[in-house]
Amino acid sequence: MPFRRFKPRQQLRRGALASLVFVLILLLGAAIIGWQTVREMRSDIHARLSHARDMFDRTLDNAHQAAMAVKPLLGQPCADAKQMLRRQVATVPDVRSVNLTLGKRIYCTSLYGEYDQDYDPSGYVQGQLDLLPGNPVTPDRALIVYRSLGEGGSVLVSVDGYYLHNTLRLMSRETPMAFQVGQRWMGSLGGVQDGAPRLEGDRFGIISQRYAYHLSSHITPRQYWLRAWNYSNGSMALYTLLALLAGGVTFWITGRPVSPEQELARALSKGEFIPYLQPVMDGEGHCAGCEVLMRWQHPQQGMIPPDRFIPMAEASGLIIPMTGELMRQVRQRFAPKAHLLPAGFHFGFNICARHCQDLSLVDDCRAFLEAFKDNPVKLVLELTERELIEVTAVTDRLFAELHDLGVFIAIDDFGTGHSSLTYLQKFQVDFLKIDQSFVAMIGSDALSCHIVDNVIDLATRLGLMIVAEGVENRLQADYLKARSVDYLQGYLFSRPLPMGEFEQTLPSLLPAQTPVRIA
Ligand code: C2E
Ligand code: CA
Ligand code: CA
Repeated sequence: MPFRRFKPRQQLRRGALASLVFVLILLLGAAIIGWQTVREMRSDIHARLSHARDMFDRTLDNAHQAAMAVKPLLGQPCADAKQMLRRQVATVPDVRSVNLTLGKRIYCTSLYGEYDQDYDPSGYVQGQLDLLPGNPVTPDRALIVYRSLGEGGSVLVSVDGYYLHNTLRLMSRETPMAFQVGQRWMGSLGGVQDGAPRLEGDRFGIISQRYAYHLSSHITPRQYWLRAWNYSNGSMALYTLLALLAGGVTFWITGRPVSPEQELARALSKGEFIPYLQPVMDGEGHCAGCEVLMRWQHPQQGMIPPDRFIPMAEASGLIIPMTGELMRQVRQRFAPKAHLLPAGFHFGFNICARHCQDLSLVDDCRAFLEAFKDNPVKLVLELTERELIEVTAVTDRLFAELHDLGVFIAIDDFGTGHSSLTYLQKFQVDFLKIDQSFVAMIGSDALSCHIVDNVIDLATRLGLMIVAEGVENRLQADYLKARSVDYLQGYLFSRPLPMGEFEQTLPSLLPAQTPVRIA
C-alpha cells in the first residue's frame, strides 16, 4: 500500500501554504487592531468634544447670568450701575468684565466706571458672541465677549481667554481641538487666529445648542498609526503567536501521513483506478474475451499492481465502488464499438467475497449488460476460491438475480481453495479458472504433472467450462489443449494491456476473416 512520501515540490507547497496561513492571520490581527483603534479614537474624540462643549456652555452660562443681573440697569447713569457691574465681576465665576452699551457706544464698564468708546455690534456672531485676540486693557490676552441685547443697548460680558485655552488644552490630548466663533478660532496653544483651523484626515465637530460657537477636531492617518503602534504591542504579539501556531498546525496537518483508506478514497475520486485487459483465447487460438485487471495509476508512484492495494480496498469496503468504476470505464469504452467485437465476446471482472454481500453488484451488472443490449456480450464474474463466500439471504438473492440477468460465474484460482460440489452448485458456476501455479508445473517433474492432471481431471468431471491462466509457453498450451481445456490465458498470448492497446492488438488475435477493426 503506497503511503505518502513528500517530494521537494510538495514540501515547498506545504511551506507556502503554512506561510500563507501565517500571513493571513497576521493581517487579520492587524486589521482587527486597526479597526479597534479607529473605533476607540473616534468614540474618544466624540466624548471629548461633548465634554468640552459642556464646559464652554457652563462658562458662557455664567456670562449670561451676569448679563441678566445687570440688564435692568441699562440706560441708567453709570454712577448708579457701576457698583452692580463690579459685583458681577467679583462674584460670578469666569467673568472678567461687565460693560453697558447704548447704541454703538460703551458708556459704563466695571473696570473704569464712566466710559465712552465706540464698539461694533456687527462683529458679534449671531449678535451674541465675539472672540478677540485682546482688548485695549490686555492687548495680548485673548477673551470672549458675550452680548445680551436689552432696552436701547446691550450688556457685554467678557470672559478671560485663559479659561478657554485651559479647557482646550485639557481636552486636546493627541488630537488638537479648536474653538470657533464666526471667522475666528482658538486652538489648544491659546492664540486667536482668523479663518478656520486646517483639519486633515477624519474631521469631527460639535455645535453648541445655546451659544454661537462650535468645536472641531481631526485625526490624521499618522495619529491612528501612532496610537495603534503605542497601545497594541501586546495584542500584536498575541496575534503573531497565534499566526505562528496556525502556520505550524497547517504545516503539520498537510504533512500528516494519510491513512490507506483516505489515500484509496482520494485515488478513486480522482479516477486513478484504471482497467487493463488480458485476452482469453479459445481452443483455436483466437481471442474469445478478456479479463479486466485493475491498475492504480498513481500520480507520483506510477503504475501500481493490484496485489499492493486490493487487500486494503477489500478490507475497507472501497473495492465495491472501485469495481463499479472499473465496469463503468470498460462499458463506456466498448459499448459504442460492441458491433465490432466477435459474437459472444466475454468480459471477466474479479469480484471479492465481500462484494457478494452487496446487492449493488446486480445494478452494476445490469447497467453493464444494458449498455451492450444491441450487441450482447458475456459478463463473467470471477470469484476467487481463496475466500469462501458465506451463504446468506443476500447472496441467495444476489446470485438468483445475477443468474436471471444472464451473468456468468467463474471460480478463480481453482485448485488452491476448497470449494465443494455443493458450493459450486449453490452459486451456479459456469467456468473454472485453473490457477497459474498448476499451469506452471507443466513440463516439470512427474509428481507435479500428476497434480496438474488431477486438477484438470477434477474440473473436467464437474462438467464446467475450463480456463487455464498463466500460460507462458507453447508446451503448456499444447498440454492443456490436449486435455480439452476450453480457454487459455497468459503471457504466451498477451500481457494485460491498457484499453487503447488492447483495441489495437485485438484484430491480430482474431481469425483472419473476422471483419473486426475497432481501433
Ligand atoms: P488473478 O485474478 O488470478 O489475475 C491473474 C493474474 O495473473 C494477473 O495479475 C495477471 O496479470 C497475471 N498473469 C496473467 N498471465 C500471466 C502469466 O502468463 N504468467 C504470470 N506469472 N502471471 C500472469 P495481476 O493483474 O497482477 O492481478 C493480481 C490479482 O489481483 C488478480 O489475480 C486478482 O486476484 C486481483 N485483482 C486484479 N484486478 C482485480 C479487481 O478488479 N478486483 C479484484 N477484486 N481483484 C483484482
Ligand atoms: Ca481473475
Ligand atoms: Ca489466479
